[in-house]
Amino acid sequence: MTTSIRKKKTICPLDCPDSCALIATVKDKQVVSLSGDPDHPYTRGMICRKMNRYPERLDSPARLLYPQIRVGRKGAGEFRRISWDEAWQRLTEKISRTVTEFGGQSILPYCYAGNMGLVNRYAGFPLFHKLGASRLHQTICSATAAGGWRAICGNAGGTPPARAVEADLIVAWGINIRVSNTHFWPQVRAAVKRGAKLLVIDPYRNDTARVADEHVWIKPGGDGALALGILKILLAEQRFDRRFIAEQSVGFEELAAYLGHTELEAFAYQSGVAADDIARLARLFGDHPRTFIRVGVGLTRNSRGGMAVRAIGSLAAACGLFSGGAGRGVLLFSGAFGGDTAKLTMPELAREQPREINMIHLGEALNSLDPPIKMMLVYNANPFSVAPDGSMVRKGLSREDLFTVVHEQVMTPTARYADLLLPATTFLENRDIYKSYGHFFLGIADRVVEPMGETISNFDLFQTLGQKLGFADMAFQQSLDQRLQSYAVTIPELDDDFELDRLLDGGYVESPRAHMMDSPFDRKRPFRFISEDDPTLPRYPHLCDGAEFDHPDLSARFPFKLITPPDDKLLNSTFGEMYPDESGRVLIHPEDGARRGIGDGDFVYLHNFRGRLKRRARISDDTQPGLLVAEGIYWPLADEDGGVNDLTSQQCSDIGGGAIFHEARVEIVPAD
Ligand code: SF4
Repeated sequence: MTTSIRKKKTICPLDCPDSCALIATVKDKQVVSLSGDPDHPYTRGMICRKMNRYPERLDSPARLLYPQIRVGRKGAGEFRRISWDEAWQRLTEKISRTVTEFGGQSILPYCYAGNMGLVNRYAGFPLFHKLGASRLHQTICSATAAGGWRAICGNAGGTPPARAVEADLIVAWGINIRVSNTHFWPQVRAAVKRGAKLLVIDPYRNDTARVADEHVWIKPGGDGALALGILKILLAEQRFDRRFIAEQSVGFEELAAYLGHTELEAFAYQSGVAADDIARLARLFGDHPRTFIRVGVGLTRNSRGGMAVRAIGSLAAACGLFSGGAGRGVLLFSGAFGGDTAKLTMPELAREQPREINMIHLGEALNSLDPPIKMMLVYNANPFSVAPDGSMVRKGLSREDLFTVVHEQVMTPTARYADLLLPATTFLENRDIYKSYGHFFLGIADRVVEPMGETISNFDLFQTLGQKLGFADMAFQQSLDQRLQSYAVTIPELDDDFELDRLLDGGYVESPRAHMMDSPFDRKRPFRFISEDDPTLPRYPHLCDGAEFDHPDLSARFPFKLITPPDDKLLNSTFGEMYPDESGRVLIHPEDGARRGIGDGDFVYLHNFRGRLKRRARISDDTQPGLLVAEGIYWPLADEDGGVNDLTSQQCSDIGGGAIFHEARVEIVPAD
């Protein structure tokens, strides 16, 4: 028998700013490897360690290939295979009965960005609108960052990453570029090779800080204070862009007045950066008009996150970094392509406005909402691992009167709690459209291989379900290409003669915004140093205490601060099945290790009033005294265990209702 080997281009679907163009090598109908597409201007042939191993998922023992129903206790992961006919029947009957007995709002969809392909990501929305289901407020990742950015920049997008190559100073502010934005790293290196300085501002010495020219150790949550302290000095020294401020901004005087009468020591205290160092950093910014700031979403995952984005953006604006000049810029989200998401979500199918549930309040919602949630349908998400206050989530998922449907690719910790488990395709078995939030290219990827086993895509799941429930609306009759096309025509950056097929197999479109050298602001759409139209926001960015870090009682009971940044093996909780025996590590400063009797490699318990977590200690001065760093959302080692989010809070950040994953107070002790 001859072996057939072919290569097909596709796009990475994971929640990552790089949105890589990939080449899949297919051997006898099986994807055997993935590599970066050398023809794509941003991917340039590189692939990260995570996706390198993706083909292993396709036929791993953890892969779900058939519909199954639960036969053991909830969470035990014991299921029996059933046919799709039986699955559809159970599903339609359960939905109909739940709506009749308890009303549409007793159903909660839970989904996020497990698959960034836009058609599949939003595929469930039309059906849930039609059912009158509770609406999920999608806040878990970028809501705070987006809210903070909108408050200062309105609809303006970020600076193209390629602009950084011409910078003389690159600032990685709260982002570990080498892990979380890998494909931006070559641009940083190119700038450094030209002589640019790389400055990293982060609470711990991450992989990027390790190779930077300078690492500024900041208190977690102190980013806004540092930005404002630097700006205070620049204003005092009259080193700011008068023209930008006069012609393209509002509210500068009010912010300047606040900075003028606030002592530098206050900014130093809250940021954890000494006043002399703040002054030195101000000179660095002042001396480098070609500065490019890459802002990380991570710095927004605390109770002052929105304020931090406003403060960093205000510093950048005052320095003239939005003016469009060579080497100058600020990148949080690219915002390269618009588009009418309503073409995918179809809110017009809803007859009335249902209640809205913030997805970070899942624990509370499952346990104490009145009227209660009786049915939950999970897709593109693993709330057991990623939702904060995990023990509450587990308690909710264990409710006998809750019917949980999980549409998944592999047996995740959430899937183990399903009553009905449905097998999902991976991106390699789907067609979809992908926009990046970190670069300026858009692409469409076709199916690389036929769906394995009896897996179906999100789109097919919800279209079929809508039809089986008897809904005659056009939404449930659309083919995938019709849905995709109806959305694509609303993307203003695509040409009128845009053809879907032209982009299949490696084609891409670059946003015209990538080449605009002008400032996105003018008198009509000014940069906002102050908030004039949102009364819920503080007028201007200012100093404020952290909700949990600066809480006096919690600080006394739980002396350590905990942050939970990503590591390079997992993307959020995706790929957890590949590390079944790993608990992950927690970084502990040597002084703290000695004080608690913990040695390198020991098992430890981190605990607070929400829960407890077991990890292995890594004693290192890569962190500060008093700060614990738990990288990666590893899956539980045993049935009864939780994850790192057992320790994090359901409290909202200051803007957008986002999560405060990097603001938990904990204690740490050696494990028995
Ligand atoms: S996870 Fe990010 S860096 Fe890795 S392949 Fe996907 S888009 Fe590229």
